Amino acid sequence: MTEKETDPKAEKLTAVKGMNDILPPDSARWEWLEDKVRTLMGRYAYRNIRTPIVEPTALFVRGTGETTDIVEKEMYSFEDKLNGEALTLRPENTPGVVRAAIQHNLTYDGGKRLYYMGPMFRHERPQRGRYRQFYQLGAEALGFAGPEVDAELMLLVHELFGAFGLRNVRVELNSLGVAAERRAHRGALIAYFEQQRELLDADSQRRLHMNPLRILDTKNPAMQSLVQGAPQLLDYLGDESLQHFDTVKTLLSACGVQWRVNPRLVRGLDYYSHTVFEFVTDELGAQGTLCGGGRYDGLFALLGGKPTPAVGWGMGLERVLELIQQQGDIPAAPAPDAYAVIPDAAALPRAMQAMQALRSAGVSVQMHASLSAGADSMKSQFKKADASGAAYALIFGGDELAENAVTVKALREGGAAQRRQSLGDVALWASTLQSRT
Ligand code: ATP
Ligand code: MG
Repeated sequence: MTEKETDPKAEKLTAVKGMNDILPPDSARWEWLEDKVRTLMGRYAYRNIRTPIVEPTALFVRGTGETTDIVEKEMYSFEDKLNGEALTLRPENTPGVVRAAIQHNLTYDGGKRLYYMGPMFRHERPQRGRYRQFYQLGAEALGFAGPEVDAELMLLVHELFGAFGLRNVRVELNSLGVAAERRAHRGALIAYFEQQRELLDADSQRRLHMNPLRILDTKNPAMQSLVQGAPQLLDYLGDESLQHFDTVKTLLSACGVQWRVNPRLVRGLDYYSHTVFEFVTDELGAQGTLCGGGRYDGLFALLGGKPTPAVGWGMGLERVLELIQQQGDIPAAPAPDAYAVIPDAAALPRAMQAMQALRSAGVSVQMHASLSAGADSMKSQFKKADASGAAYALIFGGDELAENAVTVKALREGGAAQRRQSLGDVALWASTLQSRT
């Protein structure tokens, strides 16, 4: 068998179900979004943190919480074949960030504002807006106790969505108070659900005595009316918690963020306290939560660190990109400024030097390269030039080579204009090729 034949025995491999390839030109939309994220994070003075994708399983069992959907049924966990360590592909990144902060004593000299972007893994049923590998952007402010940071983090999401051009996204808020308040509410909640035990689904029966608050987070439509009538945690909050919550609301309003209190918002994870929030849209069907977060003052201690107040959020980027696309604000697919047509292989060394000079001067140039060895016809090269979306074709032909020059031909808007430029002074005319920013 030669290199040019397909092996009849080689089975074609495909990506794991629920894990997607992101291909050009779609990947350009991701880069566009990531650029906007980096710019805005810089303006808010949030700094990038990159933690491992694999962490000890215990980090999520303790951090995310034993009775959460994530830990109960969604984690990709495995044993390290070499040393038997229990490991997990991160299903979320807050525990990883806090682990790193404790390990490196990040908050020794004051609070830290951090953000991350990267893949997360959850073994869920794949469907629209729900994948097994998906990308989250997250921001975490570590070591700040005041409500102004809760508000700052929500304002950051609001501004990001503005930069993405998103419309019709609602902000829902609630407060989970502090542990003693949640304990008092817990008793009332258990009593309420016990009275109507036959209406609880299997998950909720199991959670009733382990973590009844989580029942409020159920997605089971059959339980919604039961949950609607449950005692509200807000009624159990003391003055300090109410004050914290009020300040968050006042600051958001002062900054032009419209919010709505949702007393049943508890969020799916165990570590939250005080402010919790979600950014929600009605335009993506059932998977309408774009971003969720809250304060988690207890997580550092839970993971063996010094008690440290903290607050943060995570955003699902597939859902955000789908909404951007659905609302019609699709960034233009990228195209090079110029396409190099090379009808004569003898011109290659000079042509490649000239392209390097143009690229150094800020021009993007795509070089024609043939699928099979040997130069393609001018006609087929021009076809490719056109398809590339380039504004100009650069023709490195024999005549041009003799004159140490290149022919520059406009491909758009009439397309007739053609001129010859000397390769000796590329830097002087390079800027005339830059059609885009
Ligand atoms: P959901 O209620 O949709 O299951 P969640 O509460 O499990 O979300 P979080 O753990 O708060 O989600 O994660 C933050 C964000 O990450 C979600 O709001 C969502 O946008 C996104 N997200 C969560 N799970 C997935 C997934 N399997 N595929 C794509 N995006 C996801
Ligand atoms: Mg979930």
